[in-house]
Order: sequence, then structure tokens, then C-alpha cells
Amino acid sequence: MGKITGFMEFARAPFKKGSVQERLKDFKEFEESYDPDTVKVQGARCMDCGIPFCQGDTGCPVDNLIPEFNDFVFKGKMKEAWENLESTNNFPEFTGRICPAPCESACTLGLISDPVSIKGIERTIIDTAWKSGWVLPKPSSSKSGRKVAVVGSGPAGLAAAQQLARAGHEVTVFEKNDRIGGLLRYGIPDFKFEKIHIDNRVTQMEEEGVVFKTNVSVGVDISAKQLHSDFDAVILAMGSETPRDLQIEGRNLKGIHFAMDFLVKSNKKNAGDDVSDFISAKDKNVIVIGGGDTGSDCVGTSNRHGAKSVTQIELFQEPPKERDPSTPWPLYPKIFRTSTSHEEGVIRKWSINTLGFKGNEKGEVTAIYGNQVEFKDGKPVSISGTEFELPADLVFLAMGFSQPVKPGLIADLQEMGMELDSYGNVKASFGLKEGSFSTTLDKVFACGDVRRGQSLVVWAISEGRKCAEQVHRYLLKKS
Ligand SMILES: Cc1cc2nc3c(=O)[nH]c(=O)nc-3n(C[C@H](O)[C@H](O)[C@H](O)COP(=O)(O)OP(=O)(O)OC[C@H]3O[C@@H](n4cnc5c(N)ncnc54)[C@H](O)[C@@H]3O)c2cc1C
Ligand code: SF4
Repeated sequence: MGKITGFMEFARAPFKKGSVQERLKDFKEFEESYDPDTVKVQGARCMDCGIPFCQGDTGCPVDNLIPEFNDFVFKGKMKEAWENLESTNNFPEFTGRICPAPCESACTLGLISDPVSIKGIERTIIDTAWKSGWVLPKPSSSKSGRKVAVVGSGPAGLAAAQQLARAGHEVTVFEKNDRIGGLLRYGIPDFKFEKIHIDNRVTQMEEEGVVFKTNVSVGVDISAKQLHSDFDAVILAMGSETPRDLQIEGRNLKGIHFAMDFLVKSNKKNAGDDVSDFISAKDKNVIVIGGGDTGSDCVGTSNRHGAKSVTQIELFQEPPKERDPSTPWPLYPKIFRTSTSHEEGVIRKWSINTLGFKGNEKGEVTAIYGNQVEFKDGKPVSISGTEFELPADLVFLAMGFSQPVKPGLIADLQEMGMELDSYGNVKASFGLKEGSFSTTLDKVFACGDVRRGQSLVVWAISEGRKCAEQVHRYLLKKS
């Protein structure tokens, strides 16, 4: 521990970010890492509290060694801090930007003050490492001769592929999209996460021997049987891509889209692609249905397009301003959150049940209607007299994802003996025990959202790493 009284002397520093007017002009990232003096002071706030709740089950899913890197940072030993960080997390520049930081919600300092800025410290360490040229490929010196297929190039697939290539296996990543990255590439907008961070890692991984095959939909372009026989192990890291729908009156009107249809097209346009069916929110009254990360990304993107108004509605009640007693420290709190996209302009409405959409003679959506609800025994009950109608030119359905897409690869693997769990995800256990992450079909493993259901980038990286360890053990046993 560096400075014994640091937590009493120094306040938590926010990241510097551009003004709302400035950042709405483009899709560039607008938050900056800490400068060298500020990051030292932030590291000094860590109490090295003995039982670091920021780690382990209560905190960081990727097992970052937080008090250790905080101490290195405080002492100005940035290279040591980076070596420590990269021993647990393949892609800290991903989590340092977009993780909701369960580590900070669990930080012991949070009981009496603002928690240690763990996410900001993580981001500053890795940004310094990239700028200093420390992040280099680590190709394996010996090869196993074993071939592994990874289906899906989101954070889970990338983490698994990098770990296995570094362990000497021949890894091929198959991706149905034209670019690598999964939801990091086409879901999350550039203003939260610029795509250069994925490109840098793809270059590094190619130099470590990973082969990337884009525009290959496994189950369509290569059959499940072919994949199963061509490779010694197969990892499914295909995400959870079935969006929740709202089958209510007027659902088929023009202008009502799943959030991902909007976000993918906007991300492609920002990447320089010619997007013929681009969905523009310019001068439109936009309604976003769903209060989570995806909804928030639709808000930020709509404002950058120049929307006339943006309203985000949510079925659940407004969360409390302080930690709800149902989620005491060190649990991830149920609490009112304001994202940077919310800061940029949105009307937020809670306890709203959308009953239908209205349209014009051209079949275009013009309004949504619904009423307010209260929750009784966990179920929404309509409150009479609260009926409303809101003008809408564009509606985005951002109510999450229910399960992986079945037709194609998953259905074919089911026929070969792979089982799904009761939620419709691929059945495989989580953990460090032998056999974890293996499905009910020999050779086939699963990690990330395809196994755990829609989740977070940090969990995807954690699962990818742990799954790779199990695949490695399996391949060693076979050899
Ligand atoms: C809009 C949005 C915003 C989000 N924001 C955040 C955030 O701020 N912070 C956070 O932590 N999490 C966020 N999440 C969640 C996070 O992105 C996911 O939990 C994470 O990306 C899951 O990683 P994954 O590798 O399991 O799957 P994915 O990232 O979904 O990647 C799966 C990949 O598999 C490919 N694939 C599927 N089937 C096939 C096939 N048959 N053949 C070949 N390829 C296939 C897909 O094309 C995709 O590229 C967000 C999600 C969305 C939708
Ligand atoms: S819980 Fe907070 S104070 Fe304790 S070790 Fe982790 S970061 Fe430091």
C-alpha cells in the first residue's frame, strides 16, 4: 500500500470530457484518461483494505488484481501496473471504457466516501501501455498441432482465441459479419468505444497466429458437421442475438425498428461504408422503448443524428437515487443511473406500458400510446386515468435479447446432441472445475452471452479466458 492516508486526503477525480455541444458534433470518444499526476493521486486513494471486495465474487469478474495495480500506479511504476493488469485481462482498453465497473460498487472505500476510480485507473494504465509501445504480440514458441475453431468474434471469442493461440494451438475465428468485434463493433457506438481498439487487437492476434475469417456464417457457409470433424475443439461464442419484440397494435408500421438495426447501420456509416438503407433520426421525434445500455446508445446516436426530440420509456419503476436496500454494499446496486448519452438530452419516463402504435395513410408510425403502471406482487398493473399518447416518427425497441439465434448452427448442433438450458442458451457450466464450459456434445464448448444470456463485456472476457483454459486441458488430455 502506497499512501496510508490517501483516501482521507484526496477526492475521487472524474474523467475530463468534452462539453455536450462539442461532443454532439461527431461520434468520437470524448472522455480522456487521467494525466500522470492525477492517476497517481487516484491510486493513492486505495486503502488496500485487507479483504479487497473489488476483486473476486463481489467485484471484478475478470479477476483484476486491483490493490496491486493501484499501488504500482501510486508509485509511478506504470509498466509494472500494466504487466499486472494484462496478466488477468486481455483487453483492458475495452473494459476501461465501457464496463459498468462492479468493482467500484463493491469497493470498501465506497462505504464512507466515493469509491476508488478503478475503471479510470485501468484505462489510464492500458492507454499508457499502448502509447509507450509496451503492448506487443506474444506468439507461442512451441506449437501443439491442435486446431481450434472459435465461432463469433465478440469479446468472449477474442479472449478465448488469444489465450489458446498463446498456448500454442492453431486458432481460426469465424465471424458472420464483415468486420471483427461482435457487439463491440456494431452495437456499441464509437462515442463510447472507437473501433481502433478492436483493430489494434486484431493486428496483435494475427501476429500471434490467429486466423480471422469474416463473412463466414457457420451453419450456412460451413456445416456444423464439417466444423466438428475439421477441428479438434470448437468454441461457440456467438452471443445472444434474438431481440425481445413488442407484439402490440401497429407493430408493423414503418419507422419501428429493433435497436440493433439502427445502431449497426449507424456504426457502419461511421466506419465509412455506403449504407443504402441508413436509418436517420434527423428532425424526427424518437421514442426509445427500453431503459438499459442499448436504449441509452440509441439516445446518444439519435442526438448525434440531430433528432427533434428523444424520449426513453421504461416499464419498470424509476430506481431510487440512493442504493436500494435490496442491493446493499458490496452488491451491484439498484440505483438511478445517468449515462453520458442521457446528459446529452432525453426525456426519461418510467412505469410506462406501451399499448400500441398509431400510423398515417402511408403506413408510417406517427404516435405511440399507453398508460402508467404500478407494480403489485412484482406484476405491472395499469393505473386508470393515466392514458397518454406521444408523437413518434421513429421507434426503437431496446428491450434486450432473449437467447441465441436457433436456426442454423445451434439447431444443427442440437441434432448432433448438444443441449440448451431452460432459458434457450447453450447448456454448459461456468467455473474453473474440469469440464466447465463444455457442452453436452464432445469437443464443443461455449462461452459469453451464448452461454450465460445477455450480459457484459467484462463477463464475456472472463468466460473466454476460463473457457480457453478448459479447452487447453481437454486438448492436452487428448494428445
Ligand atoms: C447496444 C449494446 C450496448 C451495450 N453496451 C455495453 C456496455 O456499455 N458495457 C458492457 O459491458 N456491455 C455492453 N453490452 C453487452 C455486451 O456488448 C455483450 O455482453 C458482449 O458483447 C457479449 O460478448 P460475446 O462475445 O459473448 O458476444 P457478441 O459480442 O454478441 O459477439 C458474438 C459474435 O458472434 C457472431 N456470430 C453469431 N453467430 C455466428 C455464426 N453462426 N457464424 C459466425 N459468427 C457468428 C456475431 O456476428 C457476433 O459478432 C451492450 C450490448 C448492446 C447490444
Ligand atoms: S476494495 Fe477499494 S480500497 Fe479495498 S483494495 Fe479494492 S480498490 Fe482498494
